[in-house]
Amino acid sequence: MNNRQLFLSHLAQTTDFPLMIEIEKAEGIYMYGPSGEKFIDLISGIGVSNVGHRHPKVLTAIQEQLDKYLHLMVYGEYVQSPQALLAKALCDTLPAHLDNVYLVNSGSEAVEGALKLAKRFTNKREIISCVDAYHGSSQGALSVGGNEIFKRSYRPLLPGIRNVVYGSFHQLAEITENTAAVIIETIQGEAGIKVACTEYFKALRKRCDETGTLLILDEIQAGFGRTGKFWAFEHFGIVPDILVCAKGMGGGMPIGAFIANKEVMGVFKNNPLLGHITTFGGHPVSAAASLATIKIIQEERLIEDVENKANLFKKLLVHPKIKSIRNKGLMMAVEFESFEVLKPIIDRAIELGVITDWFLFCDDAMRIAPPLVITESQIHDACQIILKAIDV
Ligand code: PMP
Repeated sequence: MNNRQLFLSHLAQTTDFPLMIEIEKAEGIYMYGPSGEKFIDLISGIGVSNVGHRHPKVLTAIQEQLDKYLHLMVYGEYVQSPQALLAKALCDTLPAHLDNVYLVNSGSEAVEGALKLAKRFTNKREIISCVDAYHGSSQGALSVGGNEIFKRSYRPLLPGIRNVVYGSFHQLAEITENTAAVIIETIQGEAGIKVACTEYFKALRKRCDETGTLLILDEIQAGFGRTGKFWAFEHFGIVPDILVCAKGMGGGMPIGAFIANKEVMGVFKNNPLLGHITTFGGHPVSAAASLATIKIIQEERLIEDVENKANLFKKLLVHPKIKSIRNKGLMMAVEFESFEVLKPIIDRAIELGVITDWFLFCDDAMRIAPPLVITESQIHDACQIILKAIDV
């Protein structure tokens, strides 16, 4: 059997429409198939490869760590310099009160940790999240998700969770003294890139303060420069109580974090009430890669050009079949009439050498989230191919 047959026979499938692209190698914004096919990656493994595939400095950091040690001990016992340095580097990107980092392996795990922390710290049980939110596939993260179709087969899920409409001022009244936390994607990703306004975030922050509710911002997809700021909340002049991140954090390696202040996070060390433990969280190789990733974003000034690059996409992607483009920086959704119109365009674009896809809860929009290192001429190449695919 060839690799494609093995993929279909023995790997558990997650969709009826796997992209089924076989990749041998990836570098920068490009991916290469086994027969030398070349693809422009416009989705970055869903917002992961912000610094490009196999950035040389990420590879060096990984190699240097490989020469020292791999896993030594469960998280939080031994002093491992990649973890300690990474925690400091993350805090340096954040407002001063976010000074304590819990490292995990993935976005879902970061969400699980944040939800537990909010319940434990506030001693309250109710959580509010948003319609069409995606926070992950584990049961707690799924419970705060906002799509009923995804949730219904797994009920009963966590009790005490209610969804409000993202961006709705009037539903902020749902947040009360009984609410432990509000968890919200700063920019809604899988809903098809929805961006609430600054006034909404200010009102949300105020309501949380008034009711003693912790504000958890999920920047798993929006963080690490994707939107044109290091953190998306910087656009709105508010700060979270707990921040969750993953994806772009590891430069292609698996790692995530939930971040709060020392006082909040401190409840987890109160033995014997077991807080939160993880064997592999903050794996030293991933932590070293993540530290390098943060340095690359800063030293190569990747954030500065995000807005211009996004505007170039918007300028070039003009076609009667494109209904609108929603975006915050390079987190973009190109809207078509329907999935039936979009699907053959995506298939054709892949044949022509550009990889895009759609969103979990929005299948009539094309996802564009390229590595931030994409150049203007590469954007021209990619858009030309997309327009050609639309016209076929
Ligand atoms: N939150 C958001 C906003 C996400 O986009 C994702 C992944 N698409 C997750 C959480 C879950 O992350 P992971 O797949 O690493 O568990």
